[in-house]
Amino acid sequence: MDCLFCNIAAGEIPAKTIYEDDLVMAFYDIAPAAPVHILVIPKPHIPSAAALTEKDAALVGHIFAVIARLAREHGFEEGFRIVSNVGALAGQSVPHLHFHLLSGRALAWPPG
Ligand code: 5GP
Ligand code: ZN
Repeated sequence: MDCLFCNIAAGEIPAKTIYEDDLVMAFYDIAPAAPVHILVIPKPHIPSAAALTEKDAALVGHIFAVIARLAREHGFEEGFRIVSNVGALAGQSVPHLHFHLLSGRALAWPPG
């Protein structure tokens, strides 16, 4: 398996894990872009949000429920951003679906 996030999901590469269940994992980003920077991934390999289909509806719903719970537990009440980069133009560097949770500072809009 040569996918970094599949290896993290399998426990073969260590990560600072915050939450884990059968379907998803959340861990701290190794190069934080904000005071709090969490990555939420599905355990199954999905290359990006562009590969999602109706079959993934329950999984994606679960991911967003986990994101909402993490936001409550990590004091994001002043606001936070959910980002999923798709493809080269958006700067996706790991080809396994992931959602960035960014919080702890004011976040500019539009993004760079
Ligand atoms: P992307 O650039 O694909 O949107 O996001 C990939 C993210 O994964 C980046 O923010 C990067 O810092 C993070 N990342 C890359 N390698 C590792 C790693 O080995 N461990 C962790 N925890 N994060 C990583
Ligand atoms: Zn993968």
